[in-house]
Amino acid sequence: MSAGLVEVHGVHKSYGTLEVLAGIDLVVQPGEVTVVIGPSGSGKSTLLRVINHLERVDRGFVAVGGEVVGYERRGDTLRELREKDVLRQRTQIGFVFQSFNLFPHLTVLENVVEAPVHAQGRPRREVEAEARVLLERVGLSDKADARPRQLSGGQQQRVAIARALATRPEVLLFDEPTSALDPELVGEVLDVIRDLAHSGTTLVVVTHEMGFARELADTVVFMDGGRIVEQGTPAQVLDHPQHARTRAFLDKVL
Ligand code: ADP
Ligand code: MG
Repeated sequence: MSAGLVEVHGVHKSYGTLEVLAGIDLVVQPGEVTVVIGPSGSGKSTLLRVINHLERVDRGFVAVGGEVVGYERRGDTLRELREKDVLRQRTQIGFVFQSFNLFPHLTVLENVVEAPVHAQGRPRREVEAEARVLLERVGLSDKADARPRQLSGGQQQRVAIARALATRPEVLLFDEPTSALDPELVGEVLDVIRDLAHSGTTLVVVTHEMGFARELADTVVFMDGGRIVEQGTPAQVLDHPQHARTRAFLDKVL
């Protein structure tokens, strides 16, 4: 098997008796855009949260950049990392939530600067300069001193993307980044994600925006019932689905 930037190996995850991830194997190559689709409750968010170690797996493991997420190798065994080391490791895996999750009491600039300074221990002055470049990249250089509540949802989500980029992650995970937005604000967020895709950033995006999947995905992954039912190019999965469950889902969303 070729070495992926993100490798999910035999991952199982249950909540009580509910098996939410029922044996997931997924490889994401560097520079690729992977779009995950599937019905509500199929385990898409849990898969992203497992990649970022926001949830522990019950079985299997995830590796990012060759490092097992949440654990360190000690000879043949894996030892769970301490919280501080998990936070540092997580800076390699940017996460953008549906609900933005900005720190409400911090300015836009402080939101972007926080993780590189506190989790990575980088010098504030250097990080601030880089944060201003990132804010410009997402079209918000004039909002550096604003508070999140003064921004529209689309602007807040663009700040969240700048914040996720600030730690220079190897991969960015997006969990339905436009689902909480008013329709007229979806485009400005998709534009930023499109720009990232074109610049070669490795992305894993859970979305119901099928136009986005068709345009930008290298791989579309269809999940149902905690399993990957099928995956392939957008033409394969969206236009010529092999499984009845995929066809039933696409009939509803397309
Ligand atoms: P999706 O993102 O595809 O809608 P999720 O990964 O959020 O699916 O959820 C998959 C299933 O796991 C759902 O049935 C959901 O109710 C359940 N679930 C998710 N998180 C928890 C949790 N913390 N405790 C219990 N059940 C959960
Ligand atoms: Mg979800």
